[in-house]
Parts: sequence; structure tokens; C-alpha cells
Amino acid sequence: MKVRLFEIFTSVEGEGILYGTKTLFVRLAGCPFSCFYCDTKESLPLDSGDEYSIEEAKQLIDSNLKNQTYKVNFTGGDPLIQHEAVAVLAQHIQKKKIPTYLESSCFDVDRFNHVLPFIDIVKIEFKTKDSEFVDSKHYEKLINHTMKCLESSVKSQKTTYIKIVVSSKTQLNDFEELVKQIFSIVSKDDIDGFVIQPTYGTSEPPLELLLDLYDIVYPHFIDVKVVPQLHKFIGAP
Ligand code: SF4
Repeated sequence: MKVRLFEIFTSVEGEGILYGTKTLFVRLAGCPFSCFYCDTKESLPLDSGDEYSIEEAKQLIDSNLKNQTYKVNFTGGDPLIQHEAVAVLAQHIQKKKIPTYLESSCFDVDRFNHVLPFIDIVKIEFKTKDSEFVDSKHYEKLINHTMKCLESSVKSQKTTYIKIVVSSKTQLNDFEELVKQIFSIVSKDDIDGFVIQPTYGTSEPPLELLLDLYDIVYPHFIDVKVVPQLHKFIGAP
């Protein structure tokens, strides 16, 4: 088995419920989607980065793993593009008793379920219609997959939180519909967080819109938080 890695580095987690933690990021190459706000565009081509055997990749991870690392974050691109390799590498990390973390758009429940046994913390990212991740014809199918990934993660009792990136283009009624759908399949006690993440540097949402979006989630999940990408404020990758 081979794996294409775009980069591997230690930094401060700047997103989600575990912001501020020292993290080893394993960025896998490849993502066929097209979110307009994507900030890792250079890792999107399936042939970006470098190819390694699994043994070489394990050694690379080991040599980059610093003391007192809180978690190892499999990110991308979209790590589910290379789900088989992620499963093997995550299992390798778990043996070291370091928590593994998956950061994916959850576009395919079968790939997700293949990786899930080796992941401790799952960020379930729901894409909004305005994200341009897929065209409108394929949006419903995407959301069905993401919902199934959410169900699966909760059922497996993983630490699970939801993230939704929003922009000035995000429509309140679309967002409300998505939130209703989410809480029709999970309860507030099933999840460990709900993060609304504003886009950075492009179509940034005004505060008024962020507060309206917050108000939509709050009745379902009182601990909802608006959290920008904090690593960008300290110049971290
Ligand atoms: S899914 Fe992630 S990596 Fe792929 S285009 Fe969207 S933001 Fe970029």
C-alpha cells in the first residue's frame, strides 16, 4: 500500500473544540471537491505531495512526533480519499496511546466507517449549499452521507463534534434546514460541540449574520460557539 502525503508538521490546533492543543498534522494529498473558501488548495491535486510506502509514512510520522503532543490530526485535502492508508496510519498512532483525530467533509459513509475504529475524535463537517463543495444536484446526496457519518460516530461513542463553515453567502433558511436535520438524528447529549466557523479572507460573514446563525443552533445546543481559525492570528500553518 502507498500513501501520498502533502505535508507533516507540528503546530497549534486553531479550529474546533480542541483549539490551542499541540498537534501533529498529517496532511494527506488529494480532494476532488471545490469549496470556494478552501485554504489548502495546493493539496487538492491527487498527485500533489510525495508518495510513500506505508512503512516510510510510519517512520516519517514517528520522526516528526514531538514530546507532549496532544493529538495527531489526519487532514487534507480530504483524508477519506486515501481511507485505507489513513486507517493503517491511525492504528499505528493509537498504539502509542496518542489520540487520533479525523478532519473530513464526511462525503462517503463507507470510507468513513472503514477509518472510524482507529479514530478517537471526529470532526463532522457539514457543508452549506453556498460552499460550492458540490453542485446543487449532488448536495442532498452529500448531506445524506454526512448525516450517516454523524450517526455512526455517535453510535461508536467517539468524541464527536460538528463544524459548519459559514460565509456572507450563507442563507439563513438553508442553514436552519440543515440544523433541523442534524438534530432530528442526534440529541444535544450525543455530541461534544457545535462550532460555527466564519470564512477568513473571503466573503467573510458580518457579525449580525453570525449571531443569527448562532441563534438558530442555540435552541438545540446551548454550548454552540462561533470560533474563527485561530491559528491564522498567530501566523501558524
Ligand atoms: S473539502 Fe476541504 S480540502 Fe476539499 S475543497 Fe473543500 S475545504 Fe478544500
